[in-house]
Amino acid sequence: MVTFVGAGSGAADLITVRGKEKLEQAGQVIYAGSLVNPQLLSYCKEGCRIFDSAKMTLEEVIARIEEAQEDGLDTVRLHTGDSSLYGAVREQMEELDKRGILYEVVPGVSSFCGAAASLQMEYTLPGVSQSVILTRMAGRTPVPERESLSSLASHQATMVLFLSAGMLEQVTEELEKGGYSPDTPAAIVYKATWPDEKQVICTVETLAQCAAREGINKTALIIVGEAVRPERYGRSKLYDPSFTTGYRKGTGKEEQ
Ligand code: SAH
Repeated sequence: MVTFVGAGSGAADLITVRGKEKLEQAGQVIYAGSLVNPQLLSYCKEGCRIFDSAKMTLEEVIARIEEAQEDGLDTVRLHTGDSSLYGAVREQMEELDKRGILYEVVPGVSSFCGAAASLQMEYTLPGVSQSVILTRMAGRTPVPERESLSSLASHQATMVLFLSAGMLEQVTEELEKGGYSPDTPAAIVYKATWPDEKQVICTVETLAQCAAREGINKTALIIVGEAVRPERYGRSKLYDPSFTTGYRKGTGKEEQ
């Protein structure tokens, strides 16, 4: 059995209770060493086989899993954040399917949630944006043309960019091409929820300059949109005294 576990965004205590239990029980752990907090490995039992996938290919990961299966050991495949985002998890599942190896998934706190917590922001503010676009700049991994940053930017929704901190001049260019004004608020969050986290509030125009000043070029998220620094936003309907919900009868008079 293989369990894909989301390690959370950084701080070791942000793994889920279920994920921690899986780590405690595992006979083998293959962790994404480039971004997973190594403190999490202290939950592993003695004798647990531990491998860092940063130095391995897909084939090597699968070979280690097969060996462990033959020895009767369960594997935890520990991915950063949540494994459903840029986790290269589907290709592993397919290889396991071919070999008849069972697997399950334990979700994790994605870095985009960790970053919102660090910034104390709400991505979906009434009257500002009710959508969050999670995407990336094309890099060595291409992005389909219909999802180009400039076309997604035309929605003016809140955007969170993964894997793009090393390309901020192009990010600004694409965002502006898509219609964001240069002074749209933006944030750079480096290593959200890690002890050495850094965050910078800037604008679409000053992204590259601010990142260079702070020495940030990787392990960061770029967050763009009015929701970063809203001038004004609407109150929620759910907690508005005038509003009746399935749980509460409202006064019918709108609060200003
Ligand atoms: N599955 C992960 C994302 C993996 S892709 C998740 O759910 O968060 C790797 C990219 O995620 C990094 O290049 C960076 O853009 C982002 N990232 C991961 N952890 C981060 C953190 N703690 N703070 C900021 N960005 C992070």
